[in-house]
Amino acid sequence: MIHFEEVSVTYEGHTTPTIQHVQLTIPEGELVLLIGPSGVGKSTLLGTVSGLVPHFTGGTLRGRVTVDGRDTRTHKPRELADLVGTVGQDPLAHFVTDTVEDELAYGMESLGLAPHVMRRRVEETLDLLGLADLRDRPIATLSGGQQQRVAIGSVLTPHPKVLVLDEPTSALDPAAAEEVLSVLQRLVHDLGTTVLMAEHRLERVIQYADRALLLPSPSAAPILGTPTEIMAI
Ligand code: ADP
Ligand code: ADP
Repeated sequence: MIHFEEVSVTYEGHTTPTIQHVQLTIPEGELVLLIGPSGVGKSTLLGTVSGLVPHFTGGTLRGRVTVDGRDTRTHKPRELADLVGTVGQDPLAHFVTDTVEDELAYGMESLGLAPHVMRRRVEETLDLLGLADLRDRPIATLSGGQQQRVAIGSVLTPHPKVLVLDEPTSALDPAAAEEVLSVLQRLVHDLGTTVLMAEHRLERVIQYADRALLLPSPSAAPILGTPTEIMAI
């Protein structure tokens, strides 16, 4: 589903690449963890999939990243909304509207869908993420776990094939984190979504993952394997 072909990223002002010669394939319909020490380039790698790198970060991307055959460099992140959904650590940074229902609808606005299709997708997503009872609530009054589910819901309504999450549970307590991780697992199993998630709290997420991708250091090749294989390295 996601192909990296000899991908290197060098930020402006840096003399060496932050990630280099990344060559790998992420399979469809799996929950893949991206792990490795802080500063190794996890967010950078995720950014090449969502299109944030290099469109919003600057720097140079060499090689090619394709998602379902589409080159992420030749599309702006907004043009990839029907292919890649992106969620960060802080759900509050993500929101542009006041209520849960408006936020879910907003993600589809640039897609040119008919109003009845948009309404149906909002209903589906509210049900899927267990948010139906909260639809009219101001987002600011929700718990952290509920807010992160809304953030995920808002990128799901365009029906992306891939979901990219950068430490989505880092601002959450363990119970809220579990709430979010079970939602992600359900998306993979029920919808066949491919989920790529950076995470440093391995013990929290490892049981939910099908595979883990380890970035050991900028100069070493990433290793893709089952979580137990990676843990054994
Ligand atoms: P925390 O204290 O935040 O839970 P850990 O002690 O689990 O973090 O890990 C510290 C750092 O080492 C993290 O950045 C994590 O990504 C990395 N790390 C831990 N275990 C592994 C592993 N098996 N493979 C790769 N990186 C690891
Ligand atoms: P991780 O997610 O593993 O912590 P990052 O991808 O965030 O790693 O960062 C890797 C390196 O790239 C760091 O040295 C960071 O300072 C640098 N970096 C990240 N984003 C930018 C940017 N927009 N411009 C310049 N340097 C950046």
